Amino acid sequence: MNTELLLNHVAGQWVAGQGAGSTLADPVTGAALVRVSSAGLDLAQAFQFAREQGGSALRALSYGQRAELLKAIGEVLKAQREAYYAIATANSGTTTADSGVDIDGALYTLGQYARWGTALGDARALRDGAAVALAKDGAFQTQHVQVPSRGVALFINAFNFPAWGLWEKAAPALLSGVPVIVKPATATAWLTQRMVADVVNAGILPAGALSVICGSSAGLLDQLQPFDVVSFTGSAETAAVIRSHPRVVSQSVRVNIEADSLNAAVLLPGADAESEALFVKEVAREMTVKSGQKCTAIRRALVPAERFEAVAQALVAQLGKTTVGNPRNESVRMGALVNREQFEGVLAGLEQLGRHAELLLDGRAAPLVDADPSVAACLGPTLLGNRTPEATDANTAVHHLEVFGPAATLLACRDTAHQLALVRRGEGSLACSLYHHDAAALGAAALELADCHGRVHVISPAVAKLHSGHGNVMPQSLHGGPGRAGGGEELGGLRALGFYHRRAAVQAAPDVLAALGPLAELSL
Ligand code: NAP
Repeated sequence: MNTELLLNHVAGQWVAGQGAGSTLADPVTGAALVRVSSAGLDLAQAFQFAREQGGSALRALSYGQRAELLKAIGEVLKAQREAYYAIATANSGTTTADSGVDIDGALYTLGQYARWGTALGDARALRDGAAVALAKDGAFQTQHVQVPSRGVALFINAFNFPAWGLWEKAAPALLSGVPVIVKPATATAWLTQRMVADVVNAGILPAGALSVICGSSAGLLDQLQPFDVVSFTGSAETAAVIRSHPRVVSQSVRVNIEADSLNAAVLLPGADAESEALFVKEVAREMTVKSGQKCTAIRRALVPAERFEAVAQALVAQLGKTTVGNPRNESVRMGALVNREQFEGVLAGLEQLGRHAELLLDGRAAPLVDADPSVAACLGPTLLGNRTPEATDANTAVHHLEVFGPAATLLACRDTAHQLALVRRGEGSLACSLYHHDAAALGAAALELADCHGRVHVISPAVAKLHSGHGNVMPQSLHGGPGRAGGGEELGGLRALGFYHRRAAVQAAPDVLAALGPLAELSL
């Protein structure tokens, strides 16, 4: 065991965890890369230091000054981009394009929050609506304000976005003046740890503003206090453990959950050929980007029954062109799943889904480029299908079982009402996309589905070359979803700051309200 043990950064110090730790591996070659361990860390001190040192130093700055810190972080990270791509190739098995979704997505999101934060200027609190009179002549009023939470933001992240998953949360937290402790998923913790190390070592942030704990999550939630917040991204099972943790329950700790989701794409009946082609392109893209390991990826593709055959053929033809294997080979378009365990999990999930649908394209049959099938966590795209509305109705599994890999099910539907009802059977998703040429049909369906999604992405021929992609999470738009998707909300421009602030009403005379100091207008 000669691999490097990555250090944790807690209480302003770099600290090695005890013991051998967990080894992170290359999902294509199986090679051991680095180790992580959080054993033996003084977590109470880590949280207290972040809360007291990091929090008070950040809160002493204005939004505008903290936006400058985000800009400086972006510069440091940009300078190390190549190193991050190398880590992603080795540890996540992703192609350059797929690593970019994570790494450049993180840089873009940071840049946006730096820009938006600059506009908030000198203020240290936010105005939340206008003052409202509580007495007849307006001599006594109520003004709602939002002030930064005086706790720690604990991030427990998923394996699929080690870069973006950190910065899409840290940018609004740091801009709000709240210190961050991030616990990345063990499988891909290296990239998160390296980014934190680069930022900490550049001396941009006050001590305690950014900490990283790699390895086991044991004991983290026991440290929570009432004004801390937890932002979790991962499976519904772990989400349930977090939600019901005694500290969370007894201290009313604010928790944001981004969990799994059975996102749908809907080709509405009567769509023109161009809309149908856009649907095929987007479904194929979503199935293969990051090997389908995106929480927003399309899992259910709904088409009118009369278009099933044509769409199935087009999808199989498109997906069949995907070269799979070692991302170091330039001909490869789709790399690996995160590890062999996920690979086995995806195969098991596909077997279950396959009991309710036909296999239209078998990813196991895809030849691998420069990769040993007995070692590599590589799998070709797999398309399942229900070719009649009756078969679709009988398929219950497709609405419940998320297979976190390059897989989707094509579902034949009777009409729009049938499609909308089926989408709702996902019980709340992160994203849904709609395809048609008619604005009225699209607008009606979009609003109909808005209550059970965080985001509805509408594609018509007019935006064919402009739209941002079904699965791409843009910092300008809300990310999260109700119900099964976790009930969380992230991003959405400056709306994200709300999670890291507390809202309070100040009731006073107008001259007292005027003396609250500069309050930034939270223009959304
Ligand atoms: P996971 O097993 O739930 O792990 C997520 C994180 O929770 C990891 O950091 C994990 O640490 C940690 N964890 C595990 N057990 C814990 C516990 N008892 N207490 C506290 N933390 C604990 O999920 P995953 O397999 O990494 O991620 C895949 C899932 O995430 C998919 O279902 C996907 O849909 C979902 N996801 C959702 C979004 C979204 O934005 N909604 C984004 C990405 C992924 P270890 O790694 O050390 O076990």
